[in-house]
Amino acid sequence: MRYQFLLFIGLFVGTFLNAQKISDPSIFTKIITARSLQTHLNIIAGDEMEGRDTPSPGLEKAADYIIEQFKKAGVLPGNNGSYRQTFSLGKDSVTGMSLKIDDANFSAYDDFAPAMFMPPQVDLHFSEYIFVGYGIVDEKQNDYAGVDVKGKLVIFLNGEPQGYKSAQTGRNAPASLFNKIKKAMEKGAAAILIIREDLPSRLSNFSRYQMISDGAANNRFAMTVPTFYINENVVRRVSGYDLSTVKNAIGTEVSIPMVEQADISLSYKTDVSKKEVSNVIGIVEGSDKKDEYVIITAHYDHVGKDLDGKIYYGADDDGSGTVSVMEMANAFAKAKKAGKGPRRTVIFMTVCGEEKGLWGSEYYSSNPVYPLDKTSADLNIDMIGRIGDEYIKSKDSANYVYVIGDDRLSTDLAPILNDANNRYLRLKLDRKYNDPNDHERFYYRSDHYNFAKKGVPVIFFFNGVHPDYHKPTDTVDKINFELMAKRAQLVFNTAWEIANRNEMLKRDLKLQ
Ligand SMILES: [Zn+2]
Repeated sequence: MRYQFLLFIGLFVGTFLNAQKISDPSIFTKIITARSLQTHLNIIAGDEMEGRDTPSPGLEKAADYIIEQFKKAGVLPGNNGSYRQTFSLGKDSVTGMSLKIDDANFSAYDDFAPAMFMPPQVDLHFSEYIFVGYGIVDEKQNDYAGVDVKGKLVIFLNGEPQGYKSAQTGRNAPASLFNKIKKAMEKGAAAILIIREDLPSRLSNFSRYQMISDGAANNRFAMTVPTFYINENVVRRVSGYDLSTVKNAIGTEVSIPMVEQADISLSYKTDVSKKEVSNVIGIVEGSDKKDEYVIITAHYDHVGKDLDGKIYYGADDDGSGTVSVMEMANAFAKAKKAGKGPRRTVIFMTVCGEEKGLWGSEYYSSNPVYPLDKTSADLNIDMIGRIGDEYIKSKDSANYVYVIGDDRLSTDLAPILNDANNRYLRLKLDRKYNDPNDHERFYYRSDHYNFAKKGVPVIFFFNGVHPDYHKPTDTVDKINFELMAKRAQLVFNTAWEIANRNEMLKRDLKLQ
């Protein structure tokens, strides 16, 4: 009893002393205002930024604006003298392709088209092809029975024969396109032609940028066998039959696999066009613990424009997080100027490529500028400017935020957040998405996850989804700036505590 009593006193005194050391953030919190957030968001989510697609000129304009504001506020460049952490994207553009069978020259996109993943260059000649029907291998049938397709050209029909049944469904089902291509590759086919009624359009092919790290693109291609779709025109010219006759003949007049003589030439050439994009990183340097860090993140990219040129403004997603990070950086820089700077270095990072697959945060967490084991926590904001569907009619509608992840990786997170909230803001902290069974899986869906994966404790701040989510109507006029300022202030006060407390957050919980 006595021992516990003393321990209790000890804890109390310890907390008291700790609290004494941390300076009061109140006057700096007030720097983050509805008005200042609105001023920045009008620009970040304005017409000029064209929806901030990754990559795009609008994205670069947004990066320039963030950097300009960092400079103005006295926030230092965070990547060895630069505000940018740059990485490369690549896109294949087809510069030529041809298909010739005996005397017939076929026309690209009218008669044949390349599949999604192709080697950058193909120039192949065959004196025969092997038609394997639907190209199915399962426990009952083997369309490749008795022939060796190694180094040969394999042709099969898309889909499955009428009445075909398999217990398996999805990607790995015997008749799935993915699995049929995989089978042909495993058997050593040198090229594959797939007969389809309709060809994929020119637009759907190779129109997207991918993240490339040096050499990675080539490795991906080395795994791939050239695969083209051909349509009925080709079938008719080569066999003299239309598609339905061929289909009906399988298993009756035509037994498969069928080896046929023909002179076939196949060529294909692409150029990789590269683009550079950047994460924007600013820092406010710490004092006595400057080699430890707190990182605050949001993504400044959105989804750009549609084919008709309609802009997806992304005011909430994630213009709201971007301008909040900017204003927090401003507030920390002002605190430092006033002699109340953070003990740990605070990193302010707006990342790009989030909408494409969390690219920017993946790049940073694989190439961290500051050691992740010295990064106490990541506080990530993705959408904090709106009232989500579930609160629109609630009495808490203008006084809540979803917090996600503060029950994982560190038992320090939730008490710090609760304390910062109780002391300054008193928002309703909704933790419903912390339920590991929640089907939305928000914990895995924004940039904080790339930090969590590497063991950095994270909290994700979020307003929930609304009808304008990923629509052109996610615009500035629908933002509740008063509410957004409160939420940004909560993140600021939480960061303040993490940056100033004696110890880094302990990492005592496993990532589920
Ligand atoms: Zn987002």
